Amino acid sequence: MSIYLDNNATTALDAQVLDAMLPYMQQHFGNPSSVHRFGRTTKAAIERAREQVGALVGAHPSQVTFTACGTEANNWVVKSVAKTKQRLLVSAIEHASLLAAAQAQLKQGSELELLPVTTAGVFCAQSLEKALQKPVDLISLMLANNETGVIQPLADMVKLCRKLQPHAPIHTDACQAAGKISVDFNSLDVQFMSLSAHKLYGPLGAGALISDKTVALEPLLSGGGQERGLRSGTENTAAIVGFGKAAELALAKLKNRTAHAAQLKQQLERGLSSIDKVTIFAKDSHRLPNTVQFSLAGFHGETTLMKLDCKNIAVSSGSACDADKVEPSHVLLAMGIDEQTALGAIRVSIGKHNTQQEIEQLINAIAQIAAGGDNCSPNLIATNSR
Ligand code: PLP
Repeated sequence: MSIYLDNNATTALDAQVLDAMLPYMQQHFGNPSSVHRFGRTTKAAIERAREQVGALVGAHPSQVTFTACGTEANNWVVKSVAKTKQRLLVSAIEHASLLAAAQAQLKQGSELELLPVTTAGVFCAQSLEKALQKPVDLISLMLANNETGVIQPLADMVKLCRKLQPHAPIHTDACQAAGKISVDFNSLDVQFMSLSAHKLYGPLGAGALISDKTVALEPLLSGGGQERGLRSGTENTAAIVGFGKAAELALAKLKNRTAHAAQLKQQLERGLSSIDKVTIFAKDSHRLPNTVQFSLAGFHGETTLMKLDCKNIAVSSGSACDADKVEPSHVLLAMGIDEQTALGAIRVSIGKHNTQQEIEQLINAIAQIAAGGDNCSPNLIATNSR
């Protein structure tokens, strides 16, 4: 049996979510813009999903705009708000979908400042204060990091932003936080928030941009005027319905899922601490209940990953790879971790299906690899930490 411990990359579709989706892939196929009963049925299902997704993050349904994924939501905010010749302030540890979109704005004459983090992987208030001395057109600070799992003190950061640059719109990427910790859009006092369905046992193909509607968004796609004219195109009804159901379950089961993950995380960290070569990143920071990132001294993360894969255990490395070379994680580098150590990174992200036995198997496998006692010599393949 394979052990899946890469739940920050994507999660297995929940059976109840699939059940909710199936009717919208078969009998309820109407175009939600059609006024006849077929259309009205799918339109109503989308509006129900909007309520469910809004409820997960304490937002009003009218604040929810569906997208195809978290990447789309991140790109949309940056491209819509930043336009030309703007000053963007973005943390150095954002997901690639945010960083790359912000970097692309440089071609439009915009200025990009990367907010550093401390060695514990946390946003630095002093640096933020300094960066806020000049006017800013968009601030983007994630709620929880996908690699280290560090939960950022976002509310404090937002307060500082409001004090020093009261008119700067603030976006937060909550793709990894939603469903793992309690998230409240309105009390965070941000203008925009990105979400992704497949990170919380929902389907691929659905995400959302939450907006408080005080800052106008440029329509992402023009045409039939769906999503209140912001994102034209016939809706992916089944995926949206699935996102809604996944959000409803995530909210209802948050306490149980969190407690389950936290218990396994504690077991994993206890086991890892008995292996000499292991260093857990951001160990003392406030982190997601399901995420542990560590390095194994003397081993390349990609090698460890493939050795674990040989043992039917799926984890992620912290590196970004292309066909020719492996780059260390920008998140770990931003924390001041040296390149060599960063290249050794492995991320374990626990999900609701994982068991104590699986964690024990993982600990044993890592101990065996660390001791050089495994006989698997994997062929390296390109992977990517998401
Ligand atoms: N933001 C964060 C923090 C993520 O971890 C990811 C995915 O790994 C994304 C955004 C992108 O989400 P999606 O895969 O839905 O495009």
